[in-house]
Amino acid sequence: MALKYIDEYRDGALARQLLAQIKKRCAHLGPMRFMEICGTHTVAVFRSGLRPLLPSTMELVNGPGCPVCVTATEDIDKAVWFASQPGVVTASFGDLLRVPGSRTSLAEERARGADVRMVYSATDAVDLAREHPDRHVVFIGIGFETTAPTVAAAMVVADRLGLENFSVFCVHKVLPPAMEALLSSGEFHLDGFLCPGHVTTVIGAKAYEDVARRYRMPCVVTGFEPLDILQGLLMLAHQCAAGDARVEIQYRRGVTWEGNTAAQELMARVFRPADAVWRGLGLIPGSGLAIRDDWARFDAAKRFSVPSLSVREDPACRCGDVLRGALRPTECPLFRKVCTPQNPKGPCMVSSEGTCGAYFKYHYDGSDPDVEEKY
Ligand code: SF4
Repeated sequence: MALKYIDEYRDGALARQLLAQIKKRCAHLGPMRFMEICGTHTVAVFRSGLRPLLPSTMELVNGPGCPVCVTATEDIDKAVWFASQPGVVTASFGDLLRVPGSRTSLAEERARGADVRMVYSATDAVDLAREHPDRHVVFIGIGFETTAPTVAAAMVVADRLGLENFSVFCVHKVLPPAMEALLSSGEFHLDGFLCPGHVTTVIGAKAYEDVARRYRMPCVVTGFEPLDILQGLLMLAHQCAAGDARVEIQYRRGVTWEGNTAAQELMARVFRPADAVWRGLGLIPGSGLAIRDDWARFDAAKRFSVPSLSVREDPACRCGDVLRGALRPTECPLFRKVCTPQNPKGPCMVSSEGTCGAYFKYHYDGSDPDVEEKY
């Protein structure tokens, strides 16, 4: 399928053809459970209305691919702590501001008078530091391999400008170790991963080879338009039928096997691998990025003496289970009754890529009606 324009990736007739192929393929297979790792996929599946059109034997579960959602409460608390420091401007992406920490959020602290700024990029935060030489700007660096190179680039720019009043609180994470952690937990059965298109533009499809080989897990790197997703699911179903466990690229217009080597080099220059705590998954070795020692002057965790903070999780919020694909948002007792986008009790309802927010926005009730008869 060689398409050129974005509208073609939303073509109804082609979508029906792909759905028919998926149905034909699934007719000879048992139940299959595929995880869409990426929060953007979760939202794209809802937005395009694909979910109820899939055969009832093909289940989609949501994974830990929303960086705001997987940020641990302790890290949110530390971000809030930075905001409480005199002379500090705390800058972050908008979604993070409303995520509840143990006691409060960055947005609540801003309402109380803290200087918390929403920015669209890390370089916006560098600009803030240039404009306010009398203040120290702490940028909260969250995100996967898609965002990390841009934060590394901002640190390089800050270095060239000789800025002394800019630093990064680094809570970046990398996805492949989290996929391995999910599989090695043995908590539930999966038949394949719909791998994230954006992250893979940077890390390259080869990054999933270990997951595919070690766990015999089909992996298809997939784009975000309806036809991309349907084709990605068909490729996964074909692998299941053939008993294969390979890495394939559906999203060829954006992804290569090697990825963006310039971005990889930039990340390696500024960051080193580190262990990281993920909401819902706990401590995963090698799943985070830390700022290298030779860039320590831009490391907010080293520039400031962050105290150890007592963390309080809301026991009623089931975001951890949602992020592992172990629970649907509709099974959380707070969903829609107490927890809404206006009054979020957990990050999965706050984030634009959060599973709970997607279920809420698209009025999804958690049941996939069997509509096979329609096709
Ligand atoms: Fe957390 Fe709200 Fe989702 Fe429940 S519905 S898991 S409280 S974000």
